[in-house]
Amino acid sequence: MKNIPAILPEPSASGKVRRTLALIAGCVAACIFSSCATGVKDTSRTFSGVVLDAGHGGHDSGTTSRYAGREKDATLDVVMRLRPKVASAGFRTVLTRSDDTFIPLDTRAAISNRQSNVIFVSVHFNDTPRSGIRGTEVYYTSPCSARIAQNILNQVAAIPGASSRGIHTANYRVLRKALYPAVLVECGYFSNPIEGRRCGSCEYRELLAQAIARGILIQRRGAGAMLAAE
Ligand SMILES: [Zn+2]
Repeated sequence: MKNIPAILPEPSASGKVRRTLALIAGCVAACIFSSCATGVKDTSRTFSGVVLDAGHGGHDSGTTSRYAGREKDATLDVVMRLRPKVASAGFRTVLTRSDDTFIPLDTRAAISNRQSNVIFVSVHFNDTPRSGIRGTEVYYTSPCSARIAQNILNQVAAIPGASSRGIHTANYRVLRKALYPAVLVECGYFSNPIEGRRCGSCEYRELLAQAIARGILIQRRGAGAMLAAE
């Protein structure tokens, strides 16, 4: 242990002022930083609307695969199936796109950010050079989005033949810019022969839409209410 003087020298008046100013500056910086880092309005348990974001579109096809076609078509199909399910449960729905149009990521986030009391759900499909990889992943950035990610993942992974690759934090632009809780669902791998073919079928995309809708409802109402309503 080092020798510590029993009595610290009395700081000079200017030293006290400097230290006080540094302390105030530190607090202000910490407050500003934490509100920037988590500057998301936590509507995860109160939301009355859902922004549904079909990934890619227009000149941006997303991934393409011989098993499943173009990602932009699959994401739009899932979202168009998802919308009436979410709306019939009583939620306001907003789509970032409803046709084959390119929408910049910042615009997608802005569409969501100008709503009130919503959550943001982005739909994508995945690919990798390793064709053996399959399963659903859900990404989020703000901590208050984690439960939404988990609830959606649980429902998608419960589809017979589907599997979970977990929820993960990610700094994706469309999530990072969100002022409301936001998740990005990678529904499955186009690059896997089995999962790719499933993702390419209308039947499976209907199951995906049902599962994502159930995840959203469970998040808002709780699993008990959801089961009672069935
Ligand atoms: Zn994508």
